[in-house]
Amino acid sequence: MSSSPDTTTSDLLDKVINLCKRRGFIFPSAEIYGGFRSAYDYGPLGVLMLRNVKNAWWHSMVQMREDVVGIDAAILGPPAVWAASGHLETFTDPLVDCKKCHERWREDKIDGKCPNCGGTDFTEPRAFNLMFKTAAGPVEGEGSTAYLRPETAQGMFVNFANVLSTSRKKPPFGIAQIGKSFRNEITPQNFVFRTREFEQMEMEYFVPPADAVQWHEHWIEERFNWYLALGIPEESLRRYVHAPEDLSHYSKGTTDIEFKFPWGFDELEGIANRGDYDLGAHTKASGEKLEYFDQATNERYTPYVIEPAAGVTRAMMAFLLSAYHEDEVEGETRTVLQLDWRLAPYQIAVLPLSKKPELEGVAKEVLSKLQPHFMCDFDVTQSIGRRYRRQDEVGTPLCITVDFDTLEDRAVTVRDRDTTVQTRVKIDDLLHHIWEAMTPA
Ligand code: ATP
Repeated sequence: MSSSPDTTTSDLLDKVINLCKRRGFIFPSAEIYGGFRSAYDYGPLGVLMLRNVKNAWWHSMVQMREDVVGIDAAILGPPAVWAASGHLETFTDPLVDCKKCHERWREDKIDGKCPNCGGTDFTEPRAFNLMFKTAAGPVEGEGSTAYLRPETAQGMFVNFANVLSTSRKKPPFGIAQIGKSFRNEITPQNFVFRTREFEQMEMEYFVPPADAVQWHEHWIEERFNWYLALGIPEESLRRYVHAPEDLSHYSKGTTDIEFKFPWGFDELEGIANRGDYDLGAHTKASGEKLEYFDQATNERYTPYVIEPAAGVTRAMMAFLLSAYHEDEVEGETRTVLQLDWRLAPYQIAVLPLSKKPELEGVAKEVLSKLQPHFMCDFDVTQSIGRRYRRQDEVGTPLCITVDFDTLEDRAVTVRDRDTTVQTRVKIDDLLHHIWEAMTPA
């Protein structure tokens, strides 16, 4: 039986980081030049999993809803956007320097003690703006200042009127976006948990103000259930309600979904009731009325916004930590990533028992039957036992073995990652069998 993962141990974190490097999920960026602190590159398996996390979010937030549409907005933005949103003035962290070792820290993250040297004497906190500033065009100067977006949300607010008039939606409705964001974090740390460049999955849900509290509750539950449905155990998740005095300048109420990371519970996603702060601020600054006119009641109003804001890479890390298991198969310890099939880099591995051309021929035929529907690996090297272990370690839910009997009976062996149970299935029935196996009961 597999041991249940204890996501609180740093041992687990080391094992997952090691597996990510060894099997091509996540590499430290620019490693051949000594690395670039806090940046990571996603390798052949990592890019597949990252895509799957985003697809799972998009599927639940856009595809399965008739009230949400997507956009893909620019990453570079003019100062006016960030002045109106409040980021230029308030998107800061309190920064302190340890007077003993001169390391720089976020004051709110260190409990009065330097994590590097244990020193307790710090400089006065200074507000440090987290936005990356750059210059657009060949001439640097006031007029060319641009910022890399620190969140995707503002793209939805500045396009509110465009989306409203082109999509024919009316409140309650949402605009969703997945994309890169950039924050000059003072202390990037904990693998991909906090990096300076990361991806977000955010949705702004515009509602009549009177319904905002109810929709806030709705989205907290929806988002909590999304993580559960994709395999994070309930005991590793909790809701954290922000105290009124700790709310961000735009928020009327925020609940975070937290995951039990190896260092303790920490934020996976924030779900905020942003009131009419954003549409109001952009209306004031741009002069464009970002309102909704309800023809039924003859009323014009600024919708309130409920925002579930999640991180792609943080979610991927939580899924990996939850999926990592070690168990014993045939007297040997095996590592298995029990990833939901929607998240696993490969759903299927096709493995001809030997390199004999006649077996490879049928195996390629099976592969081409499955490739249009699933991401497949094809592996012919080493013993079948070794190949099963390799697929278990990267979370491939099903392995399909083509053997000499296949040439006679046109059937293959389908092996289940979690139970290791093997079933003989006719090639003609394979697609149906796989769909059945992958659809949750
Ligand atoms: P934190 O308090 O951890 O800095 P935050 O509350 O500022 O996060 P939000 O602005 O609410 O974060 O961003 C929404 C989500 O984006 C976060 O819940 C997280 O999943 C992700 N995220 C934010 N900052 C980072 C980062 N530096 N690296 C990776 N993911 C991030």
